Amino acid sequence: VSAKAEEAEGKDLKLRGVRISSPDRVVYPNADLTKGDVARHYDAVAERFLEHAGHRPVSLVRCPDGTQKQCFFQKHAGKGFPDSVGRVAVEESSGDKEDYIYFASPEAVLGAAQMGAIEFHIWGSANDKLDRPDRMVFDLDPDEGLGFEDVKAAAQETRAALEGLGLPATPMVTGGKGVHVIVPLRRIAGWDTVKGFSQTFATVMAQKNPERYVATMSKAKRKGRIFIDWLRNQRGATAVAPYSLRARTGAPVAVPVTWDELAKLKAANLFTPKDMKKRLTQPCPLLECGKSARGIGKEVVGALGDWAED
Ligand code: ATP
Ligand code: MN
Ligand code: MN
Repeated sequence: VSAKAEEAEGKDLKLRGVRISSPDRVVYPNADLTKGDVARHYDAVAERFLEHAGHRPVSLVRCPDGTQKQCFFQKHAGKGFPDSVGRVAVEESSGDKEDYIYFASPEAVLGAAQMGAIEFHIWGSANDKLDRPDRMVFDLDPDEGLGFEDVKAAAQETRAALEGLGLPATPMVTGGKGVHVIVPLRRIAGWDTVKGFSQTFATVMAQKNPERYVATMSKAKRKGRIFIDWLRNQRGATAVAPYSLRARTGAPVAVPVTWDELAKLKAANLFTPKDMKKRLTQPCPLLECGKSARGIGKEVVGALGDWAED
């Protein structure tokens, strides 16, 4: 799709008809990656990215002066966003309605890249049922000093515990330090149920293994442990989208992997845009996992209770 679809137009780059200005501007100085390269990444992964990130509220991390300078988190479409970028009205806790950003087409994703967007962070629910999450995430955050082998062991243990409750899960390396263990959900339960379930799950993991895990955000309690961050699982919270670039050194990409692949990986930030072409020839492990999604119903909640008392 990408290289051939480009039309040099003066100094601008055009991808899928979207004009990318200043394509040669360096965005990642250490990786020598330009704004044009960022746009080409999203052009290459657009269809698969949208299978995960489409039609749901998204927050952007924009870095107008490159990833080494100030970046900012943005929930609402602002000045200069093209009409292709969707707006969905979301009721906030205050009762007010606010327009959130969503994406429904590759052109819109490229429009965001033109606006300096680097990272895309997604809600756990889609526009058509904002109150019924279709994914649950356990964001494994290691304390400094822990290695990736510790994170992998934690991910495997999280997987085993979830599968014991009847919930298939897939790991995603975040492009940072950790792994997100993602559970695709049938949309039978609301946020209260899913949030409560994830909090109990993380708390029980920590109770069973207090030397290795904590379920509270407190940095002091994390000493030498992995924080099982379940707080992504509430209305309005986000997690980085699959195939999003990260605004971190080396231009890493967040990538869903198989459990076998995870076992062989040496770090969470080793995938870069160069690796996408090959990955796109294989099915996405997270989409595959989604085919056997379960919901947080009575049975699963009951199993959690039994496991907690075990
Ligand atoms: P790592 O593997 O290095 O932890 P991560 O993406 O999991 O990478 P976290 O700091 O654990 O990073 O954050 C988890 C998620 O919380 C992010 O992916 C993001 O969606 C959300 N988040 C992080 N920072 C903010 C912020 N400033 N405002 C709102 N949400 C945020
Ligand atoms: Mn994390
Ligand atoms: Mn976290």
